[in-house]
Order: sequence, then C-alpha cells, then structure tokens
Amino acid sequence: METILVKHYTGNEETAFKAFQEDVPQMLFEGYSPINQQKISTPLGCGLCILIYFLFFFFLTWIKLNSGISWGFAEFILSYIFLTSLIILYNSLTKNRGGLMVTYEYRPKKKEKTCSKCAETVKLDAKLCRYCGYFFT
Ligand SMILES: [Zn+2]
Repeated sequence: METILVKHYTGNEETAFKAFQEDVPQMLFEGYSPINQQKISTPLGCGLCILIYFLFFFFLTWIKLNSGISWGFAEFILSYIFLTSLIILYNSLTKNRGGLMVTYEYRPKKKEKTCSKCAETVKLDAKLCRYCGYFFT
C-alpha cells in the first residue's frame, strides 16, 4: 500500500522552504518521507500582469482619442516605464505567491522482520523467534 500526500507551503522561496524544513520532522514522525519538491510560480500573477498591460493601453488610447494630441515620444517613454514597473510587479507577485509543493510518500517504519531460520514474521525488536526459538544476534 502506498499513500501519496502533497503539501503546499506558501510564501516566497525563503519562507516556504523554512516552513517545509520545520514540517519535515513531524511528517517523518508520522511516517511520511518527502520524495519530491517543486517550486511553484503563480500563473495568476502572470495573467494579472497581462490584464493590467492591456488595460493600460486601452487607457492610453482612450486619453489620446479624447485629448486629440499625438503623444509621440512621451507615449514611448510611458510605455517603457510601465513595462519596467510591470516586470518588477510581476517578480514581486511570483515571489510572494509562489511556494513549495512537496510530495510525501507514506513509508511507515518496518515493525517486523523475517526469521532467518524459519522464515516466519516476528516483531522487529524480538531477540528470540517465537516460532522456532532462534536467537537474533
Ligand atoms: Zn524462527
């Protein structure tokens, strides 16, 4: 029997990893071993930026149409400034919304062993086989 458990640690890279490290001993105690970890970046942040980007250009076009002034170079500068802040915003969004996804597998510690003489299953801590009387060394 195999049980897979997926846990999501939120926060930026640093805090998510710290949360994971703090959680591991408890998980191990419960019999779960981490088998895979994956960084998560947020698709929401990306989609949000594209939306803001388009809204900005609609806004810019709207201003242009209403003012009747051709902006020329100013428009270019504005776009550049906006794009830069967009990238910064995107980075901060992914940093804060990302996290760590850790896959755990349930691997309980073995509590039994096989007697090397009679092949019966006995308790792991047993010193003497209850079937054949074999002494474990
Ligand atoms: Zn035995």
